Amino acid sequence: MQEETFADFKHQSLTDSLTGLKNRRYSELIFIDLIESNQLFSLIMIDIDHFKLVNDEFGHTAGDEVLKFLANKMKSITKDNDVCIRLGGEEFIILLPNCILPDAYKIAEKLRKDIEISIPPINKKITISSGVAEYRDGSESINDLMNRVDEALYMAKSEGRNKTVIFS
Ligand code: GH3
Ligand code: MG
Ligand code: MG
Repeated sequence: MQEETFADFKHQSLTDSLTGLKNRRYSELIFIDLIESNQLFSLIMIDIDHFKLVNDEFGHTAGDEVLKFLANKMKSITKDNDVCIRLGGEEFIILLPNCILPDAYKIAEKLRKDIEISIPPINKKITISSGVAEYRDGSESINDLMNRVDEALYMAKSEGRNKTVIFS
């Protein structure tokens, strides 16, 4: 068996094993980096609509395949510098360095439309909802930023799902 190096362990501890995306721990590190370097960035929070029904109807393993399908879409529509993260469950974020709010909205909409027209690995279409916000220069805490995207996502859900809402 191949010997695992420290780098392998570090990589594993920052990676979501199901989807291969980065995990919540990684997002905490990258947030600190972005804020300390005074970089402008935007954030998209994504949640699959009625995902519980997918599990109920097709089983947990099929549900996992849908999570991987979304993760791959996220990777394919973003650039190398963007960071795709699975926060946990069916909740994801995309961190967009040097990206202003209107451009972040465009990316979220591109993903939403792409998912809407794609054939998922189950015999039923899925949709996603997203909240979008831009980091407020210097003074804002990560917690406050996360609360803002979360609120926008909640609006998207309450406005009928399959929707992107900007925090304003
Ligand atoms: P909403 O449109 O309001 O987001 O509805 P929802 O059904 O997507 O939301 P809810 O929070 O009720 O359900 C989330 C489901 O996600 C419940 C849970 O079983 C499922 N889930 C969480 N983590 C995983 C996972 O790793 N794999 C699978 N297959 N399902 C998961
Ligand atoms: Mg959820
Ligand atoms: Mg959901």
